[in-house]
Amino acid sequence: MTTERLSTCPLCGKRQIRPDSFATWQLNLAQDHAVTRCARCGLRFLNPRPDPMAYEQMYRDGSGPLSETYPPSQEYYAHEDDVRLGEYRTKLDLLVEAGARGRLLEIGACTGVFLSEARRCGFEVEGIEPSEENRRRALENHNLRLHPGVAEGQDFADASFDVVFSSHVFEHLTDPAAVTRQAFRWLRPGGFLMIEVPNQFESFASRRKRWLKTTRRKERSFLCVHHTVFFSRRTVTTLVKRAGFVPRRLRNIYYSSDSLWRHPLQAAGRLIGAAAGGSAVIEILAQKPVDPYAMGRNATE
Ligand SMILES: [Zn+2]
Repeated sequence: MTTERLSTCPLCGKRQIRPDSFATWQLNLAQDHAVTRCARCGLRFLNPRPDPMAYEQMYRDGSGPLSETYPPSQEYYAHEDDVRLGEYRTKLDLLVEAGARGRLLEIGACTGVFLSEARRCGFEVEGIEPSEENRRRALENHNLRLHPGVAEGQDFADASFDVVFSSHVFEHLTDPAAVTRQAFRWLRPGGFLMIEVPNQFESFASRRKRWLKTTRRKERSFLCVHHTVFFSRRTVTTLVKRAGFVPRRLRNIYYSSDSLWRHPLQAAGRLIGAAAGGSAVIEILAQKPVDPYAMGRNATE
């Protein structure tokens, strides 16, 4: 299998990157692949990783050299539709409360469930979705015509959206920093970016397992390599700041399937967890400054 090796961190661009043998063990990676951690910004990422062609083939029809080493898994959709729908409504409430309205773009719109809710809230919606099957379902179920392809290939006008939203997509991207900068350009000044990603290695639950030595090694499947970047509360904040955004709110998200939170001491557990790494899923809401000269850092830095 052909692999791709990065010599610098895909978030901060620094060369101080080190192998993370624990994360590599936990993900049960094949010999060619590993998890690397940046000593400067703390980002963990797959490196060396399968090359982009192998991913493309795998996402298209589950075939190719990657499928021999990492067989496709059936357990893709961990969260039920109704659980996700409740969370989507919370997100839309937060966006409206923050003052967002107008044109909303979703990167990786899947079958259009979020966009359909956003449209109900008064947003004018558009979405990008690489899977033909998902686009067909979005059209059939929600009368949504999504843009084919990935974010990198779109040519929306600068400052043409009020909100860019993305859920569980950025951890799959080969260059999430570039897509974040692109979202910045597509947003009008004052526009909002909202991203939900897993907090795979830094969450309270995963740290606790590591302390107690109860971390379980993943069964070898495509789920071991489908994430190319592993964000935390710290690194997802760095991601938006480096693109020029001002972080507004970093939220721990608790889906009911996270067994830790079903404990009777749920509230206390969440407080401790929030202080010690956060939940297994996190969300950041960030805003493009109205006055570009007020930016703390800019995209070219
Ligand atoms: Zn870095």
